[in-house]
Amino acid sequence: MAQLQELFVQRFDNAPVGSVISPGRVNLIGEHTDYNDGFVSPMGIERHIEMAFRPREDRRAVLYTGADPNPFVIDIDSVDPVHGWGIYPQGVIRHFAQDGLEVRGFDAVFSSTIPSGSGLSSSAALELAVARTLTAVTEGEWDATDMALRCVRAENEWVGVACGVMDQLICATAVERAVSRIDCADYSTYPVELPGGVVVLILHSGTKRGLVDSEYNERRSTCERASVELGVKSLRYATMDMLDASGVDDLARRRARHVISENDRVLAWGRAAASGDWSEAGRLMVASHESLRDDFEVSGPALDVMVDVALDVEGVHGARLTGAGFAGACVALVAEEHADKAAATIDAAYRQRYDAVPQIIPSRPAKGTHLVDPI
Ligand code: ADP
Ligand code: MG
Repeated sequence: MAQLQELFVQRFDNAPVGSVISPGRVNLIGEHTDYNDGFVSPMGIERHIEMAFRPREDRRAVLYTGADPNPFVIDIDSVDPVHGWGIYPQGVIRHFAQDGLEVRGFDAVFSSTIPSGSGLSSSAALELAVARTLTAVTEGEWDATDMALRCVRAENEWVGVACGVMDQLICATAVERAVSRIDCADYSTYPVELPGGVVVLILHSGTKRGLVDSEYNERRSTCERASVELGVKSLRYATMDMLDASGVDDLARRRARHVISENDRVLAWGRAAASGDWSEAGRLMVASHESLRDDFEVSGPALDVMVDVALDVEGVHGARLTGAGFAGACVALVAEEHADKAAATIDAAYRQRYDAVPQIIPSRPAKGTHLVDPI
């Protein structure tokens, strides 16, 4: 924090009045279910964006990221979309205004320890950091769920990314010591405690998602088509029996099969975790990966190699891709006493089998977006 404060003073010749921490997230199970009104089980991670801020007297937001000497300057009243990463803060500002919330100019400097574009949700962390900052400088009310949904609309409508609700919801509402099971039909969350004895390892494959918007849009529209053909509001309300009895084509059948089975796996994972049955929890994660790879077709070579490598290592209960897929990160559940050795072994074995530099990140569940007090 001291470093960020110093950087702020260098940039603005003035001290910040506050700062925000906004975590990335890792999803333990429940992938591509959020936009089908289904269940997800993510947690906040110990990688975050930290943003120091100070209100301004004019109508501009001036933001510096990391070591970049050039700020992004946003006219907070402008409705012309900016180009580059400033589109995320601008989207949040526009949606505050659109929802009738006060907006005000501010200075900000932020740094991030979340690998971006890797399925760990740096975009939601950035949006929520801006939302918390704007709320602080306007002395507004902070309702985490409401704000998360505002940030979803900003990403959907302003940035133009058709993401579901999981990333922003967990980033805003994550709790320490527990994975959250979120019901994406009503946004309610339920804590699934992670007791001692088991550790979450984030397995970043060292690859980054390219332009996969069209793939993502196909998955969304095929799921929608399947739900229409099955006569349900969304795939959340479909069952395997309904699917078996229907005449939906092979592609839609496989996509729907993933979503229906994945929702069941999230609930089963919660039961396994609650009773400390980590081998069952791990088995469900592997089944999730296989379903994502074979039926939903959102895995990628690096992710398949990473999971394969991890499952060969002593102490690993299970592993799967996490986030939208194609590239980026996987997640593993590992017995605590084997965690250090498992991390080193996975790192070395992955390097041998794939031409990329992995990053193995252990993380406990971390708290959602919050003000750091005192600065
Ligand atoms: P993910 O959310 O999985 O990390 P996205 O593609 O949704 O990947 O979001 C990544 C984008 O978010 C980056 O391309 C950038 O525009 C923005 N972003 C994330 N972190 C930062 C940062 N520290 N500084 C500036 N922009 C960032
Ligand atoms: Mg994102």
